[in-house]
Amino acid sequence: MTESRGVVLVTGGGRGIGAAASVALAKDGWDVGVGYLSRDDEASRVVAACTALGRRALAVQADVVEAADVERLFDAVTDGLGPIGAVINNAGVVSPSGRVDEYDAARIDRVFRVNAVSAFLVAGAAVRRMSTKYGHGGGVIVNVSSRAAVLGSAGEYVDYAASKAAVDALTVGLANEVANEGIRVLGVRPGLIETDIHEAGRLDRLGTTPPLGRPGQPEEVAEVIAFLASDRSSYMTGTTMDVSGGR
Ligand code: NAP
Repeated sequence: MTESRGVVLVTGGGRGIGAAASVALAKDGWDVGVGYLSRDDEASRVVAACTALGRRALAVQADVVEAADVERLFDAVTDGLGPIGAVINNAGVVSPSGRVDEYDAARIDRVFRVNAVSAFLVAGAAVRRMSTKYGHGGGVIVNVSSRAAVLGSAGEYVDYAASKAAVDALTVGLANEVANEGIRVLGVRPGLIETDIHEAGRLDRLGTTPPLGRPGQPEEVAEVIAFLASDRSSYMTGTTMDVSGGR
């Protein structure tokens, strides 16, 4: 069996990119805490896939928008698996397609809460659980952003794009804050990846637009996340990698 790397917590680990990341991390030697919102069947499947690889794994329901839930999530993973050494800040949602002049406040609030506010709550909890400043052994945070943060997503969801730009700024700023506390902070910007997050027909419409001529698979993002979480990326912090087929 691969040498143990410790315990990783993956938010949104039950489906899509987070599910693929959980399995890739288990393959790479991590025991995996799988956070999810409501799809316990999917999260249980990911736990089974990780344990089939010889690792320990645990599914925990928690809404990452709620600070108390985030604390409970970190407590449950620490109690069940041991001290956390890496956190994949992955849970996220898109909003329905539309122009900025059509958005109402509730929509904007929701997308910023789930994508940006939650990323800060999870990152803050990760620092409190991993930083040498708090008596821990250090670790890695990988923030899952989006190419939308750079492209802007005109006519689709500029609010989503802006919420992911906030995640990119979190990666840079937090990396500088905690670099001397044993924590590296990194990000990935996926492009068009085949998961359930897209509105019906979106991948058919846009899937061949990347220069590589196809949408990406969650496993192709997961590989990069596993690399960033590992010490194979030991001289990297404060940077975000595009995984977008050139788009
Ligand atoms: P997905 O298949 O829809 O999965 C989203 C995951 O996030 C699910 O596990 C869901 O839990 C969880 N989640 C959503 N809201 C949550 C909340 N409030 N609290 C806790 N968990 C919550 O999405 P995906 O495509 O894998 O996306 C994962 C990340 O990649 C997101 O941050 C997304 O913005 C980013 N991304 C995706 C793409 C793409 O093309 N797919 C491109 C760029 C960036 P349940 O399973 O319980 O519902």
